[in-house]
Amino acid sequence: MYEWSDEHKMLQTVVRDFVEREIKPKVEELEHGDLPPYDILRKMFTTFGMDAMARATFAKRIEKEKAALAEGAQPTPVTEDVESIAGMDAGFTLIPIVEMCRYCPGMVTAMGVSMGLTSAAIMSKGTIAQKERWALDLLTLDKIGAWAITEPGSGSDAFGSMRSTARRDGDEYVLNGSKTFITNGPYADTIVFICKLDEGNDPKDRKVLSFVLDSGMAGLEQSKPLRKMGMHSSPTGELFLTDVRVGRDRLIGETEDVSSGGREGAKATFMMERSGVAAMALGIIEQCLMLCVDYAKNREQFGQPIGEFQLIQLKLAKMEVARMNCQNLVFRTIEMSKAGRSMTLAEASAMKLYSAGAAVECALEAVQLFGGNGYMAEFQVEQLARDAKVLQIYGGTDEIQTSQIARSLLA
Ligand SMILES: Cc1cc2nc3c(=O)[nH]c(=O)nc-3n(C[C@H](O)[C@H](O)[C@H](O)COP(=O)(O)OP(=O)(O)OC[C@H]3O[C@@H](n4cnc5c(N)ncnc54)[C@H](O)[C@@H]3O)c2cc1C
Repeated sequence: MYEWSDEHKMLQTVVRDFVEREIKPKVEELEHGDLPPYDILRKMFTTFGMDAMARATFAKRIEKEKAALAEGAQPTPVTEDVESIAGMDAGFTLIPIVEMCRYCPGMVTAMGVSMGLTSAAIMSKGTIAQKERWALDLLTLDKIGAWAITEPGSGSDAFGSMRSTARRDGDEYVLNGSKTFITNGPYADTIVFICKLDEGNDPKDRKVLSFVLDSGMAGLEQSKPLRKMGMHSSPTGELFLTDVRVGRDRLIGETEDVSSGGREGAKATFMMERSGVAAMALGIIEQCLMLCVDYAKNREQFGQPIGEFQLIQLKLAKMEVARMNCQNLVFRTIEMSKAGRSMTLAEASAMKLYSAGAAVECALEAVQLFGGNGYMAEFQVEQLARDAKVLQIYGGTDEIQTSQIARSLLA
């Protein structure tokens, strides 16, 4: 694949139109945190039939799993690529991401964490009953999900420094701990809480387990949105758990004997998060480039358009190279999912490392190209620069991606 198909282009046009009509006029409210993003996202889902499509795909998958189970076979695990989660050509999932990121990358973060990461955690390792109970509502955005691994003392070293615990108590578990920087945390209806099973053993030897929690459970507190640098349309918060009692029905997979002690499921989620970043970066870069070309043609200094200056041309040319590279990474993701191939963690890390850096560089160069106007909120590149920065932090920092790529090369 080296270009968008006609069907892809049609989708681009209608989604772009939706974004211009429904999101662009509300960016100001979203930016100030006055408007949570979920109703607009739901409107997009119903407008493009994404909810109905998710429902149909989900029904087909569950039917297949039930049939396999009846025959005594193990259900095929859901592979963690974008296509299988949404159940369609990955291009049709990635195009809305690109288009939304032109104006509101935070909305993509809120949507991706809910219907991507949270539902994927349940779809990949949960029982059929758990999928029916929680995942479908997340895939349709009827409910909002949060996926919680990060803690005040554990970020990059997510498993090693993890303090949150589950203790057995009869047939139940008692959960304790606190999580921070959790996307959708303040508003989530369904929360995947990742913790360690405390059997009185050394924390580094403890199993990692994931539980599904519902908002409003006794002992669960969801904070207000935290103030932050960018991505304001994606509410981020803290979670506090004090003796939250849960049955085994909330333990993902309903077994403690998860492969690699549950770390595998969380790692698969990181991979999925990383591979989506190229599409986000592409949207940010495309928008910066479009705004910059227009500005370079129309802004005059020293009696000529600034686009006549070679130093400005260099910025535009570099942005175009980054746009082409990110677009090719998106094409590669689509091709791989069509071929039924999943990316390795190192491949996904390489994609994230490159595209996050490219988005930040382009957005900062866009601010520079706009001069003083670039520093003003009115001209949009300022927002894109603030939003882009987090791509180098969440889902694993640049430094962690770098070490994962190098480790795989040296293995
Ligand atoms: C807006 C936002 C949304 C988020 N959403 C979620 C979410 O939904 N769910 C969730 O669980 N988490 C979420 N996170 C958390 C995010 O994944 C972490 O912030 C990230 O993994 C980094 O962890 P940390 O902040 O603790 O930084 P630290 O791990 O403390 O890192 C600090 C610095 O040290 C560097 N460093 C750390 N270890 C190494 C190493 N081995 N080698 C070299 N350098 C190293 C880092 O790269 C960084 O520069 C979110 C974060 C943000 C900002």
